[in-house]
Order: sequence, then C-alpha cells, then structure tokens
Amino acid sequence: MKSAVYFTDRQARSDFNMLDKIEIVFNKLGLKKAIKKNSKVMIKTHFGAWGNTNYLRPAYVRKVVDLVKALGGNPYVVETCGLGYGSGGAYGGRTTAPEYLSMAALNGFTEGSLGAPILMADGYWGNDVHRVKIKGEHVKHVDVAAAGLDADVIIVLTHAKGHGLSGLGGTIKNLGIGLVGKSGKAAMHFDGKVTIDPEKCLGPDCSLCLKVCPVRCITMEEKAVIDLNACIVCGHCTGVCLRDAKAKAISTKWRTPKDQAVRFVENALGVIELIGRDRFYYLNLAIDISDKCDCWNVGAPLLVHDIGIFGSRDPLALDQATLDAINESKPNLESEAKDVHEGDCIFAIAHNQKDPKTGELLDFAKIQLEHAKKMGLGSRDYDLVTLTKKPPKR
Ligand code: SF4
Ligand code: SF4
Repeated sequence: MKSAVYFTDRQARSDFNMLDKIEIVFNKLGLKKAIKKNSKVMIKTHFGAWGNTNYLRPAYVRKVVDLVKALGGNPYVVETCGLGYGSGGAYGGRTTAPEYLSMAALNGFTEGSLGAPILMADGYWGNDVHRVKIKGEHVKHVDVAAAGLDADVIIVLTHAKGHGLSGLGGTIKNLGIGLVGKSGKAAMHFDGKVTIDPEKCLGPDCSLCLKVCPVRCITMEEKAVIDLNACIVCGHCTGVCLRDAKAKAISTKWRTPKDQAVRFVENALGVIELIGRDRFYYLNLAIDISDKCDCWNVGAPLLVHDIGIFGSRDPLALDQATLDAINESKPNLESEAKDVHEGDCIFAIAHNQKDPKTGELLDFAKIQLEHAKKMGLGSRDYDLVTLTKKPPKR
C-alpha cells in the first residue's frame, strides 16, 4: 500500500518563505486536529556537534514550537545524549545532559531561541530509559528514551543528510539512534560486551572509570573489576581509559557497518511500538545535504542543492521519498558525489565503503530501507503530494 508523502520545494519568497513552507506541511499532516489545548507535544530534533555548520537551524524548530503553541499545545524540544565519554574537545561534547545542552546553546538552541523548554530525553547520563521487548531479527529489546512516554503528540523534525553507517541519516535514524538511550546506541554500535585487561589497568591511582560509570558497576580491587551483569555497555569507561587505543585497559568491539545499519532500524521499531505509532508525525528537511551526520564536528561540502521539506505519517515512505529526491538531483561536482552516475545512490558513492569479502560497494541506505520494510516500519511505496499554497493568515 502507498503512503502519502507531502512535499514543498526549496523555492522561497519574502511572502512565502521556508518557515511558511514548514507550516503547510505541518497542517497537511493533520497536526492542527491532533494538538488540543494543553496537549503535551514533544519535538525531537538534533542540535548538531560543535564545528558542524550544516545542522538544522534553530529557526525551523522555533517555527514548529510556535505552531504548536498557537494550537494551545505545550511543546518541549528534546535530544538524547551521545555515545561514549569525553570526546567533546574544547567546547564540550554530547556525553551528559549539561555537556550537550551547553554545546546546543553554542549552536543557537536555547529555551529563549526556541520558545520552549529543552531537555535530554534520556536524562543526565543517557540512561533514563524504558526497556521494551521487540521481535527483531537482531535486537530483542530496545532502551527507549523515557521523555516521550507521556507525550500526546511527537513531532520528529529531522535534517535529511548522509550518515556513514546508515547511508541516509533521515527520520528512521532520528528514531533508532536519536530516541534511544546510550545503551540503545551502544547495542547498535558495539558487539554488546566490554572487556577489561588487568595487565594494562593502572589500578587505584587512576580510577577514572569508576567515576564515570552511570550504573556504578566498576569496583577497584588491585585493578578495576567490572560486573558485566550490571554493565549497560554505555562506553563511558572505554572513553576515559587511557586514550591511546593500544594502551586501553577497557575496550569494546565495534560491529561491522552492515551489522549496525540493520540494528538501528530495529531500535526505531522499538521506539514507535512502545510509544505508539499514532502519536508520531514526521518531517524531513532536505537542505544542506552532505555525506556526514550532524554529529560530526565538520560541515562537509554539500552533495546536491537544497531540495525542500517532506512530511509523512509513515517514517519509511518519508525516508524513501527523501532519498529518491536526493538521488534524482544533480551532484555537486566539487563534492564527494562527483563520480555519481544515473541510478547510483549518492551517499553510497560518497561514503565509498566496500564489503571486505566481496569488494562490492555497500549501499547502506538501501540496506536500511529494505530492512525497515521487512520489520514493518512502513511502506517503501508512496504518493508524493506537492504542496504549493501559502498557509492562511492567522
Ligand atoms: S580507567 Fe582504565 S586504567 Fe584507569 S582504572 Fe579504569 S580500567 Fe584501569
Ligand atoms: S562498565 Fe559498563 S556501564 Fe559502566 S561505564 Fe563501562 S560500559 Fe558503562
């Protein structure tokens, strides 16, 4: 069955700009009816890393906040903590709530600029989660960020761009990585285990890992000891343990990119199954499209021109329509997409990751969307409805 995907292009005039355009997609999605007086409305976006200059501008989030408020709803804007510990550099990282929120302010996201409270949906450490069992092929439970559980309406406002592990960093990625706690991110990236080599551990004089373990499952004897039954594999201890990879006493093993691409799809399934599909409304903004996710500390060169705004109630149809539009665009010959030919996936060419066994180019966007269909996230078939009318004056 085909799902409706609403679209408005990137053309803008002073009397019909991109903020007006977000409003026509917002209205078409049915949000005017869904948001009632005092409805709790969670808006999920991504604040970008420091140094990234392609992330979604706060003005788009502000517009959505204002639309929600005009309907009598109570909006709040959320993000979740990043994986690992202490990788933030001079302006901090995305490890804990205060660290990420202070970095978000540097990128222009504050309660003042957005007109709504901002919080980390998964709490101070990224472990305020609710665990849900799912019937995934690879993932059997998902640690969903707790903040969305009592929201009446959830608006997932996504910057569509590339992502090194999922091909397309769209709505499904914003759900499957962006709305799970740190352990959910780790379950996707790591093989589920932390190992410690006592020979390399510096013992009580160091003890750094004890301080950063959110579940306090490391104790110090002669050397550090981890209670693996209690460990949530958040990656904090590996982040602080002797930065040099060879010297590290604590380590985790990364999954292959192919293994990761299917797991976050299953995480996304857990998120929407726990919270309830009917509460979700999705928007993809296909602008400032580079090959890199906004969690990179760089605004990489853009692969194609800006395309516009897509909206749907079906996350898979939305990502498929967005990806198709990106792949149908002319590549920027100054970018990583310069070698793209008709029928290629621009992100696969730009990422240029090969299967180590066969040497074949890996198309993670295709792997992601095929698996999303298999897992029942939605439909890959869609009707694209182009919207051109200005919103009515309020
Ligand atoms: S951080 Fe590493 S070296 Fe330091 S106590 Fe923990 S395991 Fe040992
Ligand atoms: S021991 Fe486990 S829970 Fe504790 S910091 Fe390390 S990875 Fe996280």
